[in-house]
Order: sequence, then structure tokens, then C-alpha cells
Amino acid sequence: MNWLQNIVRPEIWKMAGYSSARMEMTDVSGMIQLDANENPYLPYLTTKSGVGNINRYPHPQPDAVLARLAAIYGVSQKQVLVGRGMDEIMDVLVRVFCIPYKDKIMITPPTYGYYQAIADIAGITVSKVPLSSTDFSLDVAGVIRNTDENTKIIFLCTPNNPTGNVFSLKDIEQIASSLPNVIIAVDEAYIEFADVPSATTIVHKYQNIVVMRTLSKAYAFAGVRVGTLIAIPEIINVARKVLAPYPIPIPVTNLILEALSPFGLELANSRIELLKSERDRVFKHLTSLPGIHVYPSHANFLLFKVSDANAVYKDLLAKGIIIRHRGKDVENTLRFTIGSQEENDLVLRALGVKLDIAKQNERQAILNRKTNETEILAKINLDKQLPVKISTGIGFFDHMLEQLAKHGGFSMELSAKGDTHIDYHHTVEDVAIVIGQALKQALGDKRGINRYGFVLPMDEACAFATLDLSGRGVLIYEAKFKNLLIGDFPVEMVEHFFLSLADQLEAAIHLKVTGDNSHHMVEGLFKAFAKALNQAINRTNNNNVPSTKGTL
Ligand SMILES: *Cc1c(COP(=O)(O)O)cnc(C)c1O
Repeated sequence: MNWLQNIVRPEIWKMAGYSSARMEMTDVSGMIQLDANENPYLPYLTTKSGVGNINRYPHPQPDAVLARLAAIYGVSQKQVLVGRGMDEIMDVLVRVFCIPYKDKIMITPPTYGYYQAIADIAGITVSKVPLSSTDFSLDVAGVIRNTDENTKIIFLCTPNNPTGNVFSLKDIEQIASSLPNVIIAVDEAYIEFADVPSATTIVHKYQNIVVMRTLSKAYAFAGVRVGTLIAIPEIINVARKVLAPYPIPIPVTNLILEALSPFGLELANSRIELLKSERDRVFKHLTSLPGIHVYPSHANFLLFKVSDANAVYKDLLAKGIIIRHRGKDVENTLRFTIGSQEENDLVLRALGVKLDIAKQNERQAILNRKTNETEILAKINLDKQLPVKISTGIGFFDHMLEQLAKHGGFSMELSAKGDTHIDYHHTVEDVAIVIGQALKQALGDKRGINRYGFVLPMDEACAFATLDLSGRGVLIYEAKFKNLLIGDFPVEMVEHFFLSLADQLEAAIHLKVTGDNSHHMVEGLFKAFAKALNQAINRTNNNNVPSTKGTL
């Protein structure tokens, strides 16, 4: 491929690349492995989970990891290369394409600072085409005009750090088609938070566009270091020669596969939605303050301008809140990362926003739990009634949990995969644990709720429920069933369910039911409990903690 040969550093193009034992023979499972000078014994370790055969070298590019990343980025496996964070991917690109003391990269400040650092370390000059000083838009003509024959890579960060705005794919395409011999490296560290398509959707159209993604931000993996290069297979193959021989440690592979499992992705996507809605909420509050300008953001941070950024920075620091001073990039600006609702409220209050207690945050929680027997994901929002979506693999149980959410007046999305082929025990119990924890988390410090709920007759079976969100888990359960099975669902599981729930929710629950038909009796219990729960979690018109002690 002449095009690529002409733009890659000649010595990189020529070199064969280091050939490690595990590159020559990648599938060694089941063989006696005496080819890589490894140690046959495992080291001393007290952590057992997710560690694997760490006395062996990892696969240089684990297949399962590539497959998972290719699937979430919507490209083919041959188009991806995984490294230790996107920072390493950028460094590899510079070493592949730029000849030291001769070549240049181009950046568009204000932008991510690491591009400059990589270039400085590698002996590469940096040319700069600033973004518009009013709206930080890209100067497409300026980028094209200022590119010369030594400009090898143009780094475009979208959404841009620290400004938060995005560049249009049309602009990126125009640059790529005008400069066919320059690598257009699109840094999409924050694209999951943006409402625009990724440049991965155009990599097949332009051989000189490469996209860089990371699990650090949207996938909450900053501490694991996973970055991905997405490019045509020919570029991937050259970059592989420069990347270290074994960049993905075995424990990291296991962590990636778990975090990017279908459940993991569901959780990550829910959290991305939550952070986006928080960003928009915080934006609205901040823009209402006098003397502040907040820049619209497609990322998980907001940049804002004040008259004295130093003073605001120091004031927040004194209140125990660290945000980033960006005055060096844009005068008198600060950048703050969207945190949890509670953290954001603290920042808003510290900046002088009067949060209206009548318009409190929605009380919600997203939780997952995985054991050897079950895997459960639950999303609860106490201030919304829909959606209610339950799927546990146990029909009758789904029906009961739907009653719980509907009559409890809250939104619940719950999916569980359990060993229901053995029996229903683990699934029912673990679902109760997760619901209890999610309710507890959503209720927070229980400010502004009723705390108590009390309900009497339900249907022709007579069910009775009281509930006190007292902070102590207690269950009093009185029920005599004539039929011990409802379909194939053992009635004894109902008590287990409420016991685990009381325990995790830290609530005192009294349940009593009489009647003939077990199905109606159990349904009555769930409905009565749900009604009592609904009363207890409902908001009062004050914002007090409903206890004379001040805490619950
Ligand atoms: C955080 C960040 C990165 C770093 O990603 P890692 O995968 O953690 O190395 C890259 N680019 C930008 C713009 C960032 O803000």
C-alpha cells in the first residue's frame, strides 16, 4: 500500500517488529508451555478473583477484548488496537508517523494538554490553529491552510477538552479529504456523553481518519487504563509494531470482559444517561447565576467563566471541593466534572445557587450485583411511575414485582439472570437484596418523606401491611397457606423475599394475610406492602428527616 508507506516513518515501515513468544503462537491452551521463559508456579496472592494465569504472558491483543470493543464501537475487529489508555495510543501514533526533529503535529487550542507533551518528548514540533475565541468552533480553512508537508498528524478533540463543544463530522471530512496525506486523529474521549454520531461512522470512507476512544470516562475505567485506536487494518498493523509487546495484562482483560458484558453495558448506559441529565440540570442552575458564563457542553464537564477565577477556585478549595482552573487556556475559566447528584448540589450551593427544596432531585438508584448464582441489574426512580419493566425468569415473581412498583408508585427496571433451573431460591433472595439496597440508596438520608406506611384489606384475601423506614431491619410475618405452590413458585419464598428486603432496606415490616387462595393471598401481600411503601416514601411538604433524633 503505497499511500501508507509514504506517510509512515521509513524505519518503522521497514522494521519487522519485535516478535514475542505469544505472537508467534497465540493459542497455547492445553499445551506444555515451555517457550516463553515463564514461571510454572503462581505467585503469592491473597486476591483470587479475576486474576487468572498471571504467571503466563498475556495475549498481545486478546481476541475477546477486541471483539467486545469492536462491537460497542460499531467497527470490525481488524480495525481496532487496544493499548494502556488513549494516552498510549496517541503516543504510538506520533512514533509511527513523525520523524523526530523534522515533522510536526497540529493541534487546535484550547485543547487537551497531552498532545503537546507527547510531541515535546518525541522531538516533534507542534503547530497551532486556535479555535474561535467566541464559540470554540473549528477553523477548518485555517487548519487546511496551515498544514505543510511536514505536518503528519492533526489532533482534533471532540467533544473538546476543556471547552466541551463538538466539531461536526462534515468539518472533519472536509479536512480529511483536503489533506489526504495527513492523519486526522479524532480524540473522542467524551463522545458517549454527546448527542452527535461518532467519527467511527466515517472511518471506512477516509483511510486517513483514525479515531481514539477510551473506557476511562463513560465506562468508569480510568484506573484500569484501556484505550482503543480505530483505523483501517493497514494502520492497525503498523501501530502494532510500535505498541509494547504485551500491553493488556490478564487481570485487565478479565475486568474489561466483565464491565463490557451485556449487564455491564446496560449499567454503563444508564449511568451515562444519568450524568447527561445531571450536566443539563447543573448547566441550567449555573446559567441562572449573575456574573457567570457557562459554555454548553457535550461532555461530562462544564467550563464556566467568572470575573475572578482564582477567588472562586480558592473559595471552593476551602470548602473541600477541587475543580480545575483553566485560566491558562481561556481567561478566568474553571472546569468542573459532573459528579453524583449530591456532589453537584454541593458545588451549586458553594457557588451560590439557592436550590429549591420543593424541587429536589429525583430520588433514584442504579445498582448491579453479581454472584456465582445470580446477576442482577436494577434501576429505581421513586419520583417517576414509569417505566416498570421486570424480567427475572420467574413469571409469577415478575408479576408480583410489577405490583410492587405499580402500587408503590415508582419506576423500576429490573433484570435478573439466575440459576432458576436449580430452584428459585437464589434469584428471589438476591432480587430482594438488590431492590432493598436500591430503595435505600434512592431514599438517601430520607429527608422530606413520611417514613411510615399502613394498609389494611386487599381483595377477597385480607392482607395487612405496616412499614417503618426506621433504619433497623425487622420482619414480622404471619401467613398460613393451604397450597404451598403457586404454579411452580414455592410460597415459602415470599417470606424469604420480605426478610431480605427488610434487612437491606433497613425497615421494620409487619405483614399478615388470611384467605383461601394462595395466589390471591401473596398478591394481596405484595399490593398491601406496596401501598404502605408508597405512603412511606411519599414526599411531605417539609424537608425534615422524619425522626426526633434527626437521623434515620
Ligand atoms: C481523559 C482524556 C484522555 C485520556 O484517556 P485515557 O484513556 O485515560 O488515557 C484522552 N483525551 C482527552 C481529551 C481526555 O480528556
